[in-house]
Amino acid sequence: MSLHLETPLISSRPLSLASGQEVWLKLDALQPSGSFKLRGIGLACETFAAQGKRRFVSSSGGNAGIAVAYAGRCLGLPVTIVVPETTTERARNLIRQENAEVIVHGKAWHEANALALSLLGGDDAFIHPFDEPLLWQGHSSLIDEVAATGFRPDAVVVAVGGGGLFSGVCQGMARHGWDAVPVFAVETAGAASLAASMREKQRVALDSVNTFATSLAAKQVCQQAFELSQTRPVVSHVLSDGEALDACERFLSDHRILVEPACGAALALAYAPSDALKPYRKVLVVVCGGATATLDQIREWRAAS
Ligand SMILES: *Cc1c(COP(=O)(O)O)cnc(C)c1O
Repeated sequence: MSLHLETPLISSRPLSLASGQEVWLKLDALQPSGSFKLRGIGLACETFAAQGKRRFVSSSGGNAGIAVAYAGRCLGLPVTIVVPETTTERARNLIRQENAEVIVHGKAWHEANALALSLLGGDDAFIHPFDEPLLWQGHSSLIDEVAATGFRPDAVVVAVGGGGLFSGVCQGMARHGWDAVPVFAVETAGAASLAASMREKQRVALDSVNTFATSLAAKQVCQQAFELSQTRPVVSHVLSDGEALDACERFLSDHRILVEPACGAALALAYAPSDALKPYRKVLVVVCGGATATLDQIREWRAAS
């Protein structure tokens, strides 16, 4: 038994009508932690527990932190999440309601992360939010579930932050012989670290990130994601925060599911396909979800973007 659930794969009538293609949705917004992150983090936590680790420590104030907290509660192990002061009260409460300890430290993520690392004892496992092979392996189960239904997409759309989800999706696609199926890697303009790396043909670190799609705000993608972008068909697509936020509102109205702007970015490409995406008939969109945004917040951000 894994900690994540098998999620529905549905054909979306509203998105198909909007895009003029057959749009299919893998609804990972329905994972109990609210995002796909439970796939990889669940596997990592189970593996570390089996190795004798007695506590999980992380520094993500977002969906990774929530997934670690959820996994720890299910496995009966304590969890400590160190988050920076910028982490919203809502996100802190989502972690606390899973019985995890939340330590608020530092103005920015790197300060919280440094404290988290300093807390690590021999029996503790540190859970990285994206740069960890166990996470990619766990995320790849999403593609196994799609393949098990007999559905084979002509293109796959996925949002990219640090590139853990993207790496897992590519790994799953390789396992099922979908190496020729292109992956459309979507980022917002303020956090387009994969786009920059693909342009430069080397892994680049952005000086700063600035986007309301906070779950995409990684300055640099993991090496694995960069290498995949150089060795399989990947199409980079960058869009605005406004487009991602509009897609969140539209998706809520169409499918009655509220997702973060990080996920709205992937949906935005399906609502308004780029010329590069248009030739593909059957498009699979990974609805990665995200639990940290409210509708009021999304509307405030939309007004400010
Ligand atoms: C973490 C996250 C992403 C990005 O995943 P990476 O593995 O960092 O690329 C996208 N959407 C949501 C909702 C997330 O929580």
